[in-house]
Amino acid sequence: MDFEEFRLSGHDFVSWMADYLSEIERYPVRAQVEPGAILAQLPREAPQDGESIARIFADFTRILLPGITHWQHPRFLAYFPANSSPPSVLAEMLTATLGAQCMLWETSPAAAELEVRVMEWLAALIGLPPSFTGSIQDSASSATILAIIAAAERASGGRFSRDGLAGGPRLILYCSAEAHSSVEKGARIVGIGAANVRKIPVDSEGALKVPALREAIAADRACGHVPAGIVACFGTTGIGAVDPIAQLSDIARAEDIHLHVDAAWAGAALILPELRGRAAGLDGADSIVFNPHKWLMTNFDCSAFFMRDPVRLAGALSLTPAYLETRQTAAIPEYRDWSIALGRRFRALKLWFVLRSYGIEGLRTKLRADLAAAERLASVIRQSEDFELTSGPNFALLSFRYAPSGVADLDGLNEKLLRAVNDSGFTYLTKTRHGGRLVIRISIGQTYTTWRHIEESWHHIAACARALAR
Ligand SMILES: *Cc1c(COP(=O)(O)O)cnc(C)c1O
Repeated sequence: MDFEEFRLSGHDFVSWMADYLSEIERYPVRAQVEPGAILAQLPREAPQDGESIARIFADFTRILLPGITHWQHPRFLAYFPANSSPPSVLAEMLTATLGAQCMLWETSPAAAELEVRVMEWLAALIGLPPSFTGSIQDSASSATILAIIAAAERASGGRFSRDGLAGGPRLILYCSAEAHSSVEKGARIVGIGAANVRKIPVDSEGALKVPALREAIAADRACGHVPAGIVACFGTTGIGAVDPIAQLSDIARAEDIHLHVDAAWAGAALILPELRGRAAGLDGADSIVFNPHKWLMTNFDCSAFFMRDPVRLAGALSLTPAYLETRQTAAIPEYRDWSIALGRRFRALKLWFVLRSYGIEGLRTKLRADLAAAERLASVIRQSEDFELTSGPNFALLSFRYAPSGVADLDGLNEKLLRAVNDSGFTYLTKTRHGGRLVIRISIGQTYTTWRHIEESWHHIAACARALAR
């Protein structure tokens, strides 16, 4: 492909992208294909000779598009949003074109320095003091692994990176029973082991019970184990619960252990000054992660990871003895020592485009609209006869249950309702368990979602429910 063809195809592609996004409501939200249907249409072997871009693109729309779940659909209310936005997509095109590996300052000084600046912007935007230093990671899961590494390094006095954990006392991590699976996965990967993750019970609101945590730490110390870290949730994945961060930060300080706050989704809400009170004590954390790639218009992957003491993490991961000296003189981090992989994408660019294109006020307006839509839907559900609001809204997440009188197996009925709604393609929802019951989640915040889409979705859900009851 020569550059002239690249130019022409590029124009066609951007034109298709604009059409796709502006007409996205005509697609079913969740892909409606059977397992294997796409695979069966793909040739078993790669082509011997090159094919035209036009032909490849035609197969993209014909074969692949039906197998896409449309995360940018405004009636996508499943999981958490994975927002994209036009400025973010345009920046990603530039990042892909530059194709730069941004692991060292020297391998692209602008990438490292822009990352420094946008992370300072973002830290200020969510109300963090300047004592935190940020980096962009590929995912909250990776950031949590890094936090666990920092915790293990600290608790073991550097033994973790030097000798490994074998033969020493057990390091213990604490999180709530509602913490994201990435915490236990991270413990497995780092070598702490799933058996050394204490999942502390939660209260009826889904928040970690502090007395139970204190007891667990004391019991572990009594056995000669070493408490290494606490992972607090600011917005659990199930129902959006918030752990008592200020109390956890007091405990972490008193016990001299690492406090990591997983704010993967709800952290974006901290750009709203009126919600900062919900994260009281956040400045006492040792590390915090939140994903602009969820609710802040920046497409995957873009995870903001803030650390109070990045030197400890870099110390555990750096394989270049001269590194710390370089860093002290350069004043710009060598980000490779802050990441699991060596290679790094130029992720700061899309965040810079998004922050500048929307502006702080533009982002706040969008989030406030989502929060208002969640409140409004909650009041509709509270007033509907056969539905029960089972949690929230916590930020822009709520859960409900269809509970007509005289039905014994409500879990089964709600499972059926969820399937009917998702099979219809009109809107897309996911479930969780709360208080021992199956509940259906509605997660608001997709870039293009407005109240109209929420209202239409609710009418559709109610109609599916009535059809089941008949
Ligand atoms: C989404 C989510 C994660 C995982 O985020 P990734 O960036 O996909 O790794 C972790 N924790 C919470 C609370 C989440 O909501």
